[in-house]
Amino acid sequence: MSSPSARPSNGPISGDRFGALFAAAVDPIVLIDREGRITGFNLAAEQVFGWREADVLGERVSILMPGPYRDEHDGYMSRYLGTGQRRIIGIGREVVARRRDGSTFPIDLSVGEFVSGAEHGFVGILRDITARKAQEAELRRTTEELRLIFEQTPTALALLDAEGRIVDVNRACESLLGRDAEALRGRHHGDLLADADRAVVEGALSEVIAGRGETWSRDVQYLRGDGRPLPALLHAGVARDVEGRPLLAICEIVDRSQLFEATREAEDLRTRLAHVARIGTLGEMVSGIAHEVNQPLTAIANYANAARRFVLAGDSDPAELAGILDKIAAQAERAGQVIRGLRNLTRRRDAVREPLDCAALIAEVARLVEFELRARGWRLLTRIDGPLPPVYGDGVQIQQVLLNLIRNGIEAMAEAAQGDAIEVQAEAVDGGNVEIRVRDRGPGLRREVEDHLFEPFFTTKAQGMGLGLSICKSLMRAHDGDLRYQPGRDGGAEFIMRLPAAMNREEVRDA
Ligand code: ADP
Repeated sequence: MSSPSARPSNGPISGDRFGALFAAAVDPIVLIDREGRITGFNLAAEQVFGWREADVLGERVSILMPGPYRDEHDGYMSRYLGTGQRRIIGIGREVVARRRDGSTFPIDLSVGEFVSGAEHGFVGILRDITARKAQEAELRRTTEELRLIFEQTPTALALLDAEGRIVDVNRACESLLGRDAEALRGRHHGDLLADADRAVVEGALSEVIAGRGETWSRDVQYLRGDGRPLPALLHAGVARDVEGRPLLAICEIVDRSQLFEATREAEDLRTRLAHVARIGTLGEMVSGIAHEVNQPLTAIANYANAARRFVLAGDSDPAELAGILDKIAAQAERAGQVIRGLRNLTRRRDAVREPLDCAALIAEVARLVEFELRARGWRLLTRIDGPLPPVYGDGVQIQQVLLNLIRNGIEAMAEAAQGDAIEVQAEAVDGGNVEIRVRDRGPGLRREVEDHLFEPFFTTKAQGMGLGLSICKSLMRAHDGDLRYQPGRDGGAEFIMRLPAAMNREEVRDA
């Protein structure tokens, strides 16, 4: 490359300072007269275009342009000169230039008008923007690729701004929610959630956006466009810029409706099975229960006869008579309680979840098994250690488990002709959960029995179904609780029911 000092006279303004600047300029500079003929072509222009200045001086500037600019250029020039209407002068724009060899390249062109003495023309300063254009094309390509990946990925995605408004959703998300992206943009993400989830999700998302926690997941319910609820797992994370400022919250929405449906069906099946098992257990207890009801009825008949005798004798003391009537009422209440408890246990109903008082549940079950134990000369020892916090669950199902464990204890002691009491003990344990222990004084479990205890159809009894304990375990698990076995301290069996505390439940806390 020849240096500007080697050719100080390059350009029409040779010899003066401007000529030197013109020659030394890094950007190509082309001067033209009012007819569009080249009057100056600096070194940088020579290098970029491949023309020598001597070759182009006096030529029309359109030789530096490819079609269609080439043909339009003369028109622009004469329009400007005739009307003063500017297309490019003083403004600058991106155009395409042409090298001597015919190849073209993009340039940023700024054009100015100058008058110097008698000379009146235009100066064009060019900047080769090939690299910038390539970068822009690359950026467009990667942006488009990202856009396509976002659009076409089978995972439902929603992008939110820092305030939780929807910036965009992809196609999978549109079809999962049954809503148009167009209608969703700008709306608050919380508006798409069921009432029960809205506050929790919005709170958690703002925590994640604020940088407290990287990601967050939760089972939630969205509201589809057609009004149907959509059970889904929401995973949320945040995209941040290099300085850690949050750009977007990214929400992945996983359809859980099938799982939800399967869980609902399993729950339904468990409820039905539990009901059948309950009826079975109560069927086995029917003679004991009949006695339990019969006793107060016999007492009522006896008290009524006594009262009748008093009245007929004519000298009855009203206070004494009232005392007998009170006893009749108390016995009727006792029979009523047993029947109410029975009706409760035999009713076919969906499982419910509510705060429950364990002591009351135990007392009701005790009433149902008392006769059977008493008839054998055995005792039911119930012990409630301290005030019990409420547990959360289905009272009937919990009573069913308790009843099953007590009956298993009775059967084990009867079969082995060993033991004289069953203990039921309840206490609060860690985190406000409650454990109910049912301990018998029978022979306990042999090792090989212990290993299969909770398996369905495992039984050592001639008439046994082997379903009792497996149903009990699945009922306790469905309560987020558990049922486990350990050898009792008196050699018998000890089963431990673990029930979840009501106070840990959002549903209860929020109520
Ligand atoms: P089933 O009572 O119909 O046999 P379960 O599932 O209730 O079915 O019990 C399974 C087996 O576990 C019983 O057959 C018995 O061998 C054993 N088992 C359960 N409870 C006790 C207990 N308290 N003492 C000794 N063995 C027990």
